[in-house]
This record gives sequence, C-alpha cells and structure tokens, in this order.
Amino acid sequence: MQPFVYRNDELYCEDVPVSRLAAEYGTPLWIYSKAFLRHQLGQIQQAFAAAEPVICYSVKANSNLGILQVMHEAGSSFDVVSGGELYRVKAAGADPTKVVFAGVGKTDEEIRFALENRILMFDVESEAELDAISRIAAELGVVGPIALRLNPDIDAKTHAKTTTGKKGNKFGMDIERFQELADKVLRDPHLELLGIHMHLGSPILTTEPYELAGRKAVEVVQSLRAKGHNIRWLNLGGGFGISYRQNEGPAASVYAEVIVPAAREAGCRLVLEPGRFVVGNSAVLVSRVVFTKREGGKLFVIQDGAMNDLIRPAMYDSFHRLWPVRPQVAMPENVEGEIPGCEKTDVVGPICESSDYFAKDRCLPPLKRGDLLATFSAGAYGMSMSSNYNSRPRAAEILVDGSSVKVIRRRETYADLVAHELPE
Ligand SMILES: *Cc1c(COP(=O)(O)O)cnc(C)c1O
Repeated sequence: MQPFVYRNDELYCEDVPVSRLAAEYGTPLWIYSKAFLRHQLGQIQQAFAAAEPVICYSVKANSNLGILQVMHEAGSSFDVVSGGELYRVKAAGADPTKVVFAGVGKTDEEIRFALENRILMFDVESEAELDAISRIAAELGVVGPIALRLNPDIDAKTHAKTTTGKKGNKFGMDIERFQELADKVLRDPHLELLGIHMHLGSPILTTEPYELAGRKAVEVVQSLRAKGHNIRWLNLGGGFGISYRQNEGPAASVYAEVIVPAAREAGCRLVLEPGRFVVGNSAVLVSRVVFTKREGGKLFVIQDGAMNDLIRPAMYDSFHRLWPVRPQVAMPENVEGEIPGCEKTDVVGPICESSDYFAKDRCLPPLKRGDLLATFSAGAYGMSMSSNYNSRPRAAEILVDGSSVKVIRRRETYADLVAHELPE
C-alpha cells in the first residue's frame, strides 16, 4: 500500500493534495495517512495470528493521541516506556490491562502508577528494578506481573545508537543474571514471572536476529518451566525494518515465518512491540524552501523544517527520501546517485547547528524560494523526538482519511513556547 503518490505531477496523501494542506495549515507540517496505519497494523495482526499475539504498538515511535486512537480502534494494545506514555494510552481510551512497560529506569511513581492500572506486565531490566516492583506491589497488596528482559547478545546489524540486544548495552541482562532473578521471583509472593522479553534493536531488515532470539527463547522458557514458573508470554519486542530507500523493508509475514514457530515451540502466546513498522511510512514532513544559496562550491536549500522537527539524520545519520511536492522531474525509484535534470543539493534547516540537515549531496530537481519539499518515512521517531530548540514552535499534525482531513495537533504558538516558564 502506498498512501503518498504523485498524480498529475503533484504529491497526494490518499485523496488530498499535499500542497492544499500546506497552504491551509502552514509549514513545516506532518501529514499522516490513516489507511496506511490500519494497513500496517493489519499486516502484523494477520501474519502473526497463529501465535495468538497481543500487538503492543510502541508508543515512543509516535505518541500523538490521534495516532494512539487509530491504533486502539484497530485492535492494538501498547508498549510504553514511561508513566507519561501510560497516561497517554489511557487518555486515548485504551485498556491499560494489556499494556507492557519496558525501560531501564522506571521510578517508584511510574511503577506504582502501572500497578494501580493493572498493566499486563513489566519488562524488568535489572535486579534493583525487580526489588522495587516487589516492594511497591507489597505496599499495594497486589502481585507484580513481570517478564525478565534478556540481553541475548545478538548483533542486529543496525546503527550503533539503535542496537539494544548486544552485550555491553544498558538494556536487559545476561542469561546468568536472568536465571538468578528468575529464582528470586520464585521465592517472592509479590511477583509472578509470566514471560520473557527481548528487544534486539531497530531497524532490523533481516530475519536472522529474530531466528536466533526465538531459538534462545525456546531454551530459556523450557528451563524456567522446569523450575516451576508458569511462563505464558514470549515478547520479542519490535524493530521490524521499513523501506526508507526503495523496497528494502520486508513484509510482516517474512518476520512471522521465523517468529511464529518459536512462539509455538515455546508454548507461549506472543507479544510484539512494533513501532516504526506501523507508523514510519505513514507520514511525510512537508517543509517550505526559505532560501537557496551557493557557497563553497555547494548548493544549499534552506527549508523551514529542521532538526528540532526531525532529528533522525542528525542523531542516527538516517536516510530519508526527499522530493518536491510539485516536482519538475518525476521521482525515480532510486533517489540515490545521479538523476538526469537534478543537481547535488544539501537540504538544511535554519537551526544554528552544522548537524541541522536532512540530506547531503542529494540529487534534487531545481528548487526555489516558496517551493514545498516532502520528507518521506517521517512518521516514526519524528514528532515524538521533536523539541523547541531555537525557540521554534512545534509543527502541526494532520491525519488524512480518504478525502477527509483532521488536525490531530495544532501548531504551537510563540505564547506556547513560554507558557510553562515562571519569570520574576
Ligand atoms: C523502541 C522500542 C520498541 C519499538 O521499536 P521499533 O523499531 O519502533 O519497532 C519496542 N520495544 C522496546 C522495548 C523499545 O524500546
């Protein structure tokens, strides 16, 4: 499914011309396709159906309430990494009893909030966290439902800043400590070990890391059962890759082929925590060209969208396709390398940082002041990582459904920028 297509030399989101939205709501502007969100979630629901999964959309990928509502209505549950995310899930009208809670630094307040809301389970990342959950569960007179997060020491072959399942990362624990903590849970009336959790990194474009993780999980689940644990859940996290360039992102069914058999062999129901796979390609970030300039032998296109909106290129060296909304040259399949009628361009924002760029030496059609430029695959870790750096109000977010348009976050104003500050 392709929600963003060029018709008559003009970019559309579903049935709505992107330039019309930019004219009406201003730029920079996030534009999401509801049909695509539903389609991606549906793909996962279908591909993994045999493992009776609870699909927990990973809130940190994009936490707008409008997006969470679409997910909830389509039957998704949620993976959270903070009390704030759990608050959002509840505000979206979802049922917290199917929520899983990961993260290495859960505070007492967050643990209490999650226990009071009867979440499905905590993904526990250390002994100190286990002790904290036990203590707070005892205070509340409940049993803390947990999965232990195993660091399986698997190289997911992704960016150094986005690998999480390799020895030396802060996430999870090695198998020796994992087994020690499992033993400790058996002696603790305020804890119940329900499952095993792994999250390997992101984005992962091959099935091999999942296959290795699945194999390890089967072993571990068997050993836990032998000790007397009633293990019901296998949580293999998120990390499914998507197509940022051409068609490099596998279908959900490709991952399912190696994951579903592991869940069945382990005799567990599956939990998955997909974020990027669901929202990544659901959105474009539309920016307007402010100026162009030639300097030092380079052509710079300076747009109003910047690293405070989309930090991925600065933070992870990420590649995003960029193309004009009304191009003079049709967008080719492959936007890397030389393109006839195009010129090597650095696309940058106005922020006072050299890392404020979206693309370097990228072949693009001619652009001039006032033109609109779309940044594709912007739905995941875009708005949710945005900031007000350089005192730039955050952009608006629009959800498109066929030909209907809904503002799911209004553009911030200058007054919003100082609303929480308390000067003398
Ligand atoms: C970030 C994260 C995810 C989601 O990763 P994606 O690559 O967006 O699918 C899932 N689980 C955990 C524990 C995470 O930290």
